[in-house]
Amino acid sequence: ILRAAATSGVRPPTQEVRIALGERSYPIFIGSGLLGDAARYAGLPAASAALIVTNTTVAPLYAERLRAALQGIYPTVYLLALPDGEPYKDWQTLNLIFDALLQHGCDRKTVLFALGGGVVGDMTGFAAACYMRGVPFVQVPTTLLAQVDSSVGGKTGINHPLGKNMIGAFYQPRLVVCDLDTLDTLPAREFSAGLAEVIKYGPIADMAFMDWLETGMDALRARERGALAHAVRRSCEIKAWVVGQDERESGLRAILNFGHTFGHAIEAGLGYGQWLHGEAVGAGMVLAAELSRALGLVDAAFTERLVRLIERAGLPVRAPVLDSKDNAGRYLELMRVDKKAEGGAIRFVLIDGPGRAVLRAVPDAQVRAVIDAGCA
Ligand code: NAD
Ligand code: MG
Repeated sequence: ILRAAATSGVRPPTQEVRIALGERSYPIFIGSGLLGDAARYAGLPAASAALIVTNTTVAPLYAERLRAALQGIYPTVYLLALPDGEPYKDWQTLNLIFDALLQHGCDRKTVLFALGGGVVGDMTGFAAACYMRGVPFVQVPTTLLAQVDSSVGGKTGINHPLGKNMIGAFYQPRLVVCDLDTLDTLPAREFSAGLAEVIKYGPIADMAFMDWLETGMDALRARERGALAHAVRRSCEIKAWVVGQDERESGLRAILNFGHTFGHAIEAGLGYGQWLHGEAVGAGMVLAAELSRALGLVDAAFTERLVRLIERAGLPVRAPVLDSKDNAGRYLELMRVDKKAEGGAIRFVLIDGPGRAVLRAVPDAQVRAVIDAGCA
């Protein structure tokens, strides 16, 4: 037993981040071995049934462990494995959750558990918001992106053929359980994509965190528990701090989209699914930082540091050429139709001195110059 403990690496103590949203407040637990620990779920409202919603990739890896933990708490635990992938974040697949709930005769106390990445989390959260006008739900995120971003903040929803995340609701979970052990099975490319959302928190809010990432990047990519625990906790704290001030995105919350305006143009321009979202955000943050520098808000030393960090995370730092004739024009066109644009004016999240973000419209000529210089 002693030898097993010594070789399994250091288990950091479980951390807790509180999301303070008045009566919708909830805890995020972060640590090792949490998924199968029944004690984590003990504080939830009593119910006669729970439904675990997951997908066909995650189910064989983790569903039984969660089911075993929940079986001591709920008389009945149902399991639903949806098809895997962003194309299934749609009405038809969402309806499978309602089908299961109704076929099992689930009442309005039934607790939904979202076990998976952001796709499962967004869909399950939206189903919970809608079923009988709202049932409790719990996020058990199993991707890095979901642990540091999508499971925090209460945005839920699905895609429409005419736009991503266009149908949805703000609906907060009762609890988030981030089991760092689940990240061991995550493909390297997905892990790096999640790191993009971790890195963004430094430049917009906390340069001490950026310093720490520079030191801890190798340990993170080796998925060392202590490093993961710190990265996930600090990311959740910063997102919680922002969401706590602007739950429904009337202003400040938009700073979380650092790198995303360029990133969305890359995703849309290449065709969704070519680059992962986090990869597009990686290259997008480089362009947004360069734009900040062109406007005199940060210096070259800062942008070079950020580029190096993004590179070390295993992410692309050069944005792709989307159009051989008028590349900058194509980027501008795609960015103008972005959901975050207002009346055709693109509002960029810029770094206003390291550790601080600002939203600003920028003259096209300056944006063009940065795109022309920054695309591979
Ligand atoms: P994802 O949910 O598609 O997961 C990525 C892949 O990893 C999938 O194939 C999944 O089955 C697999 N996977 C999940 N956990 C695994 C594990 N532990 N081991 C092995 N494989 C595993 O993608 P994602 O990056 O987690 O989330 C992206 C989604 O999140 C998008 O739909 C996006 O719109 C949404 N999102 C929402 C918010 C929000 O605030 N609600 C924020 C950011 C992103
Ligand atoms: Mg994102």
